[in-house]
Amino acid sequence: MEYDKKILELLEEQRLSWKLLDDNMKSLGATRIKEFSFSHFSFKVQFNPERIVSSGAKVDKATISNRRCFLCKENRPSEQKEIIFQEDYEILCNPFPIFNQHFTISHLNHIPQEINHSFPVMLDLSKELNHSVVFYNAPNCGASAPDHLHFQAGNLDFLPIPNELDQLKNHYGESLSDNEDVMITAIDDGLRKFIVLESDSKSEIIKAFNKIYKQSELFSGDEPPMLNILAYYQQAWKILIFLREKHRPWQYFAEGEENILFSPASVDMGGALILPLEKDFNKIESRDIEIMFKEIMISSEKFAVYKELFKSDKK
Ligand SMILES: [Zn+2]
Repeated sequence: MEYDKKILELLEEQRLSWKLLDDNMKSLGATRIKEFSFSHFSFKVQFNPERIVSSGAKVDKATISNRRCFLCKENRPSEQKEIIFQEDYEILCNPFPIFNQHFTISHLNHIPQEINHSFPVMLDLSKELNHSVVFYNAPNCGASAPDHLHFQAGNLDFLPIPNELDQLKNHYGESLSDNEDVMITAIDDGLRKFIVLESDSKSEIIKAFNKIYKQSELFSGDEPPMLNILAYYQQAWKILIFLREKHRPWQYFAEGEENILFSPASVDMGGALILPLEKDFNKIESRDIEIMFKEIMISSEKFAVYKELFKSDKK
């Protein structure tokens, strides 16, 4: 049976046998959403109090090394069941969902959250889970388990960005490749800076990805490359690589009125802002979204360096 069907069966079964998941799915159904329009793209803001576990999480090294990893099998709730993927990975239902079909794909072993060697698996997952978007958060870019390799997947129709990608490319895109095997486009829409890879060839996508990853390593020094990645498959792979400069915006740490508990990750990059606190949901305006995104993405100077990586390949 196909994975697409298997995961939906898993979700159905888990809702019957795992109360926490079912309760949180019910709350998700009643969650409030606000929508904001920008020029040629949109954002929705979801008030999701259960996500405080992730947005509010301390992810410094000391806190992480002292806690029991919630992705390691021995620490997981006994109700949580899995589907094995490619021997080394297990697909789990996410008990604190943002999507109404939300999965975590976790490595069997407690190994670092690094994308360089696991990127091909992400491609396989996004092709197998054809109705989902698969995403990766770097340890310093929103992963709530920064020490255990994992991806997540959610139903493809939730995030605004897959539907807006053509418009974004038309209005804000710069084509970086005239190679017919892979389309590479740099997009700066005023909020987000990201590179889109499109191809049906796994090896071409990996080749282009490796270039971006290596440059990102150079910029990040001792820290892991600051990336959020969205991947989905529609006749070809669409890989969106968001280039980050900062883990959390200053508003996250601000006191009083100016505080907004916003810990951006791939879902937010895809146009769905997740806010766990009602005070933030009530007051947030499009201007706040703009300011926070501008702060966490890389500078235009650094973005230009990424573009040059591919321009030199152009004949
Ligand atoms: Zn672990």
